[in-house]
Order: sequence, then structure tokens, then C-alpha cells
Amino acid sequence: MTLEEVSARPAGPGQAVVKVKAAGVNPVDTYIRAGNYASLPPLPFTPGADGAGVVEAVGSDVRSFAPGDRVYFSGTVDGRAYGSYAEVALCNLDQIHRLPTQVSYAEGAGIGIPYVTAWRALLDKGRAVPGETVLIHGASGAVGTAAVQIARAAGLRVFGTAGTERGRQLALEQGAHEVFDHTAGAYEKQIIDKTDGRGVDLVVEMLANVNLVRDLELLAKRGRVAIVGNRGSLELNPRAIMGKDATIVGFTNWNATPAELATAHAAILAGMERSGFKPQVGKEMALGEAPRAHEDVLKPGAYGKIVLIP
Ligand code: NAP
Repeated sequence: MTLEEVSARPAGPGQAVVKVKAAGVNPVDTYIRAGNYASLPPLPFTPGADGAGVVEAVGSDVRSFAPGDRVYFSGTVDGRAYGSYAEVALCNLDQIHRLPTQVSYAEGAGIGIPYVTAWRALLDKGRAVPGETVLIHGASGAVGTAAVQIARAAGLRVFGTAGTERGRQLALEQGAHEVFDHTAGAYEKQIIDKTDGRGVDLVVEMLANVNLVRDLELLAKRGRVAIVGNRGSLELNPRAIMGKDATIVGFTNWNATPAELATAHAAILAGMERSGFKPQVGKEMALGEAPRAHEDVLKPGAYGKIVLIP
């Protein structure tokens, strides 16, 4: 990746130009950059889906946003070709959302993919209901910290895992009731003990190829596993699913319908305004440091969100 000057495009009907104050770095940006993803943009392209900033211009038919509005966005016109790692982004109206004043631009860049993913994993695909116990694997990362906040506000008993003491502390600060070390051999027994032997109702899984077999052991009867992240294959005996009437559900945000996305963003906006949802920014880097940000986002020891500042 290199910084280059390209010409900005004006806002057409149903579009807005956003002056980007911060861009969110998501693991998927690295998969796309590496050419290791199901759908890829033609080269060269500008990476990034998530960002936050100020509306600079709107199409002549646009009434719902005006220049000067604070917004966050997830996605840009032309899908993956003109992304958020830029000084300006051109978005369709359904890709931009109002940014509450108490949420900074850097925090706003951490809303789109992480919060929609966390919301869908817990409440849509995971079908969590108040009073249930959820295990959020990777509660130190961008999706995980969002999931802890959302789960806690939804009335769940929240368990989180992280690989570092600092990450576990972050998960506790976001509202986790109990935290565990996913690198320690004994964490499964600790989790089972904390549920008096019953197991958890839902697992939000960030690395299914490593954890899925153990997740099924940790589940209560009729429990669910919502697969958010996966980086490989595994061997699994389906009897572990049958024996518990368990459900394993996977999803990818690119498949979400406009209506599903609108529902998730409405819930997230309400959560920011009324329930204290706040993306945790662990690292701010200059836009030109995007190559290093792509290395850092894949390293162990996650601590919230990495954002790029143009
Ligand atoms: P991130 O900020 O880099 O966080 C990654 C998290 O995974 C960290 O909390 C990390 O914990 C944890 N982790 C690493 N190894 C683990 C293990 N063996 N067991 C449990 N947790 C482990 O990334 P993110 O943005 O939160 O995304 C998380 C994953 O979800 C990525 O794989 C991403 O590609 C995927 N994702 C999928 C969708 C979708 O549409 N399905 C959307 C967004 C993200 P420590 O660093 O503390 O060890």
C-alpha cells in the first residue's frame, strides 16, 4: 500500500461526500489486500470500509444529511474499489449514519463492521435473550469489546476471553462479568464451574478453527455457537452437536440485507445514545502507516480498535 493522489468524485443523487477524520482498520481489509477473499476489487484500489467524519457535500436530491453533519459510515460506493483509507469518501445514503456528539471521530471509525457484527452475532444469529449466559471469545478485540457492551446492555451474563492480562482488563471494563485466558489450558473447566456445570447458552466465536470443538463442550443443552471469525479448517464429530440439540450458525456481513443493516444500525445508534456503547480505540496511526496497521491488526494481544487518521 502506498499513499497516492487521486481525483475526488462529486456526490451524485442519493450520495454524500464525507471528509474522513478517521478510518477503521478491520481484519477483512487485510484479507482483501492480500487477495485472499471471496470477492476482490480490480487493482489498484483504496482499501477500507469503515470511517467517520463530516459531510462535505450531498447530492441535489438529498435532504436527510447536510454539509457539516457528523457521521460514521460503513461501506462506500463501488464496494471495495474506493475505500475509507482516504481523505474523502463517497457514500450512498444508506452507508452513512449520524454520529452522536459524545462519540469521537476515531471512535466512530470503530462502529461499522465491529458493532454490526457483534449485534448480529448476539441478537440476530445468536438469538440471545436476557438472563442467558454468553461466552465472547476474543473479548479484547474490536468485535469482542462491542459484543461485551451490547450483551451486557441486553441483560446477559457475560463471559469474555482474551490472551493478555491487558485485554482481559479491557473486557472487564466493557462490562464482562467474568474473564478467562483463552491461551490457558484450564479455561474450559473454569467456565463450566462458573455455570454450576450447566454450560453457556451462546458462544460468540472469533476463531472457529481453533475453538469450535471446545465450544460444543462448553455449551448448555440447546445452546448456540455464532461463528464470527475463522482462519482454517478443523475436524469435528457431529455427535457433539446432536447430543446437545446445539445450533452452529455462521454469517458474513456482506450477506446482510439493507433491512437487516438498517435494524442493526438503529439499535447501535440507540445504544450509543442511551446505553453507553463506545468503541474502544487502542491505537491511532497516521494514514501513511496503513501497511503497519495491517500487520498489527493480525497480531495477538488485541486491544480494541486500530484507526488511521488522514
Ligand atoms: P481483532 O480486533 O484483531 O480481534 C481479534 C480477537 O480474536 C482478539 O480479541 C483476540 O484475542 C482473539 N483471539 C485470537 N486468538 C484467539 C483464540 N485462540 N481464541 C479466542 N480468541 C482469540 O479483530 P476483530 O475485528 O475483532 O475481528 C475478529 C474476527 O472476526 C476476525 O477473524 C475477523 O476477520 C472476523 N470478522 C468477521 C466478520 C463477519 O462478517 N463474519 C465481521 C467482522 C470480523 P487476544 O488478542 O487477546 O488473544
